[in-house]
Amino acid sequence: MISVVTVRPKYQFTEFNMMTSYQPFEHLQCPIWIYDIDNKRITWANSIALPLWESESLFELTSRDFSVEMSKAIEATLEEYQRQFLRNESIKTWWNFTPNYISKRALCLFSGIPLHDGRTGMLVQVVAEEGSLRHDLACSDGANLSLLFNKSGSVVSANSAFFHNYGSPFSTLSDFVSSEERAAQWLFTVRKGREILEEVSCEIDGKTHHFDVQGKWLFDKSELLLNLTCTTKQKEKLIKARYNAEHDCLTELYNRRGITNLLETSIAYRSPFELMFVDLDGFKLVNDTYGHTVGDQLLKQVGERLKQLVDEKCMIGRFGGDEFIVIAHTCRNQNIPLLCSRIIDALNRSFHIRGIGSLSVGCSIGTAHFPDNAVDQETLLKQAGMAMHLAKANGRNRFQTFTPNLAQTLHRKVEIRHRLARAIENDDLNLHYQPIMNTNSDKVKGFEALLRWSDKELGNIGPDEFISLAEETGQIVPLGKWVLNSALKQLSVWQREFDSDLMMSINISSIQMHSTFAEQLLAMLNFYNIQPQSIALEITESSMIFKHGEVRQALSDISKLGVELHLDDFGTGYSSLSMLHDLPISTVKLDKSFVHGSHKGSKAIVQATHAICEKLGLKVVAEGVETETQKAFLIDCGYEYLQGFLFSKPIPSNEVESQFLNGRQIHN
Ligand code: C2E
Ligand code: MG
Ligand code: MG
Repeated sequence: MISVVTVRPKYQFTEFNMMTSYQPFEHLQCPIWIYDIDNKRITWANSIALPLWESESLFELTSRDFSVEMSKAIEATLEEYQRQFLRNESIKTWWNFTPNYISKRALCLFSGIPLHDGRTGMLVQVVAEEGSLRHDLACSDGANLSLLFNKSGSVVSANSAFFHNYGSPFSTLSDFVSSEERAAQWLFTVRKGREILEEVSCEIDGKTHHFDVQGKWLFDKSELLLNLTCTTKQKEKLIKARYNAEHDCLTELYNRRGITNLLETSIAYRSPFELMFVDLDGFKLVNDTYGHTVGDQLLKQVGERLKQLVDEKCMIGRFGGDEFIVIAHTCRNQNIPLLCSRIIDALNRSFHIRGIGSLSVGCSIGTAHFPDNAVDQETLLKQAGMAMHLAKANGRNRFQTFTPNLAQTLHRKVEIRHRLARAIENDDLNLHYQPIMNTNSDKVKGFEALLRWSDKELGNIGPDEFISLAEETGQIVPLGKWVLNSALKQLSVWQREFDSDLMMSINISSIQMHSTFAEQLLAMLNFYNIQPQSIALEITESSMIFKHGEVRQALSDISKLGVELHLDDFGTGYSSLSMLHDLPISTVKLDKSFVHGSHKGSKAIVQATHAICEKLGLKVVAEGVETETQKAFLIDCGYEYLQGFLFSKPIPSNEVESQFLNGRQIHN
């Protein structure tokens, strides 16, 4: 800052002289003056510049001696400018000055101009004047802050703009750059004649300030001159913008981009960590039932609970929707299974939502480790996501650690899903049929249609594998329709050609049981001219399906058509005895594991199942009969219908015809 006092001029310039030499500048519409750097005086100014300098006449202004009270830092800055002018460079910067103790600030263009005696003076053009009298604005995002250091790095001088804004917070260069090493490096660099162009962030009175620093060595004085531009506001804006770009505004956790950046940084530092992919169970239901505002409140509370759970070494983000990420650095022996269990427990506690009351969700977690499982963030996220899916598939509300086997399983799943879609499209599927025997008549009562799929690349894939996948993906709907249509078509042929009493059992997934299923089934039966009584739909027991209102209604509609309903794999699921009574089922199919004696007390169960079914007026079929001994025992227990490899494996339709049906037409 230039403080100005008026003293008797050492050099007398007459207004007349100046007016004549610089007359053309008078026409310019901006304040302009010429400054003699060596003598620290203004030698000429246009009339617009006089009010800016609080001067009444050019004579008075040119009489001012700026050397009084000029800081060494400003002196050095101006001398440096002079050197730049000699190189034909000009400088545009905000400049602070205090004519008659009034603080002013203007954006000035400084350039060199030859003086009368051949030396180079400084032509100053005011590009824009801030026009504010407020001192605190003097350097708000200020430039022309200067610091001068001696060769050992101690502060020699700070210009008044710096002092005004920051006081005297540093006594050495290392204080300013917060590092002795960096200070030494700077001094070394500038003494070699090189310029410093760096950024410095430092604490002054508990607040972080940022500066762009330009540093030069003044060889004549053996001093380091730093010209600073305060960039705190821009930096804060940038920091805020970066915060917003990397954080989720709902939970204030990191967002997807923030997590990605964090992962990249952790990977670059090679510090081992566990990536935990947390997905809420049952969140969609909350959103669909109570709306998105309630869903948002819930997500916010989930974020808060996660924050409370983990220490400051863990980083948490919301990856999207109801997915959260926790990054736990494992160098500090974090117990990951324990942390997962604590997260699950915490999220299992009910959440209180204003105006709604208590709500419950749960969560499934998948984890992957850097660098044990993968060394890039995309793969790690994929692996943790896979593990999370498996945790869900295994019953939710649990955690699963990624293993390479798991990846293979999931890749196979993806492959099967893709190829199954093509098989459905191209009609590349097949039905095999397994006879169900009537032990009283020793005749075939009917056949169970069982789906077969042989893929060119994957080979034969068992229905146990692809049916459950098709249920997960929804492909079971078109697949089930294809099975139903093909089995009915086959039955219509066999009934017409061999035996009109033949029955066909068809496996149905609960996912197919929507409100119009019975209607569609009736249309198909009519199309193939099949009596509803010739059809049995086999449904596996599962606690879920029968609770569901739509499934229950569909089962009741099907039974009203006269189509039989068989409860498949009895004893393996969640069947309760009351279900046998409540549901419109006509037949129970005892699971083959009991016939094989795989369970403790299998024999007793075989006997008891028959007894219960008899009491309830239900028919019972025993599946998986492989030996004569099993057959004899089952007949002994009163089983009328048997199915199993002993009679036949599931076989294609032509084999069914040759082995079981040819000759039947004779009896009809
Ligand atoms: P399921 O409905 O209980 O079918 C009986 C399964 O037991 C069949 O397996 C059959 O091949 C097998 N099996 C029959 N007799 C014996 C035996 O004596 N010993 C042994 N060890 N096994 C025997 P498959 O064909 O592999 O079918 C497995 C399951 O896939 C079926 O069990 C059924 O739940 C499902 N599935 C098959 N086809 C379809 C379909 O078209 N739709 C639906 N939704 N599910 C189907
Ligand atoms: Mg079955
Ligand atoms: Mg079965």
